[in-house]
Amino acid sequence: MSTTILGAGPIGLASAFELASRGESVTVISRSTNVGEAAHVNAGWIVPIMSAPVPAPGALKKSIRWLLDSRSPLKIAPELSPGHISFMLSMLKYSTQKNFLHGLAALSEFGRGSLSAFDSYVQQGIDFEIHRSGVLMAFTSQAELDSHAVEFDGVEKYGLAPVKVLSASEMQVKEPMLSDVVKFGIYCSDQYFVDPTSLMNGLRKKCIQLGVDFIEHAGPISLVTKGSRAEAVIGPKTVSSDHVLVAAGASSRELLENIGISIPIRFGKGYCFDFLGEKRIKNSLYLSSAKVAVTPNQGYLRFSGTMEFGGDGLKINHKRAEGILKSSAKYFTENLFGDTQPKSGLRSMTPDGLPVIGKLSGASNLYIASGHAMQGVTLAPNTGNAIADLILDGSSSVNLNNFKPERFSR
Ligand SMILES: Cc1cc2nc3c(=O)[nH]c(=O)nc-3n(C[C@H](O)[C@H](O)[C@H](O)COP(=O)(O)OP(=O)(O)OC[C@H]3O[C@@H](n4cnc5c(N)ncnc54)[C@H](O)[C@@H]3O)c2cc1C
Repeated sequence: MSTTILGAGPIGLASAFELASRGESVTVISRSTNVGEAAHVNAGWIVPIMSAPVPAPGALKKSIRWLLDSRSPLKIAPELSPGHISFMLSMLKYSTQKNFLHGLAALSEFGRGSLSAFDSYVQQGIDFEIHRSGVLMAFTSQAELDSHAVEFDGVEKYGLAPVKVLSASEMQVKEPMLSDVVKFGIYCSDQYFVDPTSLMNGLRKKCIQLGVDFIEHAGPISLVTKGSRAEAVIGPKTVSSDHVLVAAGASSRELLENIGISIPIRFGKGYCFDFLGEKRIKNSLYLSSAKVAVTPNQGYLRFSGTMEFGGDGLKINHKRAEGILKSSAKYFTENLFGDTQPKSGLRSMTPDGLPVIGKLSGASNLYIASGHAMQGVTLAPNTGNAIADLILDGSSSVNLNNFKPERFSR
């Protein structure tokens, strides 16, 4: 049997790997321009412990305060399209304590085993840069520390190591370059990080060894239906297969709209800055008040953050991007920032903060795996597994009820 996958980010590649490993004939179609995808600009954190969904209680109060600050980590563009407005209102509706706790439990459960899934990638000969040194979260006040308590309470039940609260001096010992604005820390000892591009290259190479075909196309790629079946169209060429999986990140909505299927996925833009050869930071760090992730890869130190809803797609808003560095600087005793340009990437977001994984009702052979927000690298192997189960066996070995595509049409 054959599957065509639209998208070659972590979700598309993990799905291709899993399907091809189980004997499926797989073709992966993606844009050749290598822009827009979050796959290469993310922080690379494999953090099942950070399963809090984006819509959270108090989000409205915070976003109104941040709307007036051009360097804040959150922007909601004043875009007048009905899709954008209804998406933001719907996200607001999900920003209740009840929905937050439901989303936290659903994502934590789905993330179960994701660390060992990356170990298994290594054991199966997928070559990429991986670090198993944990994540250190830095807080400037007791209130900031306390605001994260609910996320880490009872993580052991998802197979994760309990977190350790650290004092300012213990943080200094772990990361001597932290300044005295850091008053507390949390050490998540069992979490990983990867170099995102090396992961993409490693997965792709392994997929090629397993016989996966890759088609990269600079022009439009679309979906059509022929009878009850979906097919991919690339220029003059049609690609037919037994199954079609839409895994095109933030572009998944447009692809499906073309065949009359409406899934509320919109982009949340993020930025990163890379400082080549910067080796003074030893740990991956979360700078809590700045909402910035710092990743010490072998060849470069990456600062990433911000979430912009709506507006001008990939276009870089330099003031907001620089806000990442401006709000991070106070955390360190020395200047870490050389001369470099930001890169942007679009996360695929849903109103309830949960991914969309399942079979679509608009065609008999069509599936989706998208909307992974801030967790698309972390959840890639588990998503690939679940999708392979669904496509090959008709049902998944893990519970996907919380991620059903039809939940938005109720
Ligand atoms: C700044 C930033 C930091 C992040 N940090 C982390 C992190 O530390 N940990 C984590 O787990 N997640 C993180 N994320 C989120 C993560 O990057 C995304 O969730 C993940 O990349 C989503 O994977 P994807 O495969 O669904 O989509 P993408 O990675 O966006 O890839 C989309 C793919 O679809 C293809 N495509 C686009 N349009 C079409 C079309 N019409 N037809 C066919 N193919 C198409 C593209 O070419 C691309 O191959 C971060 C994101 C950002 C922006």
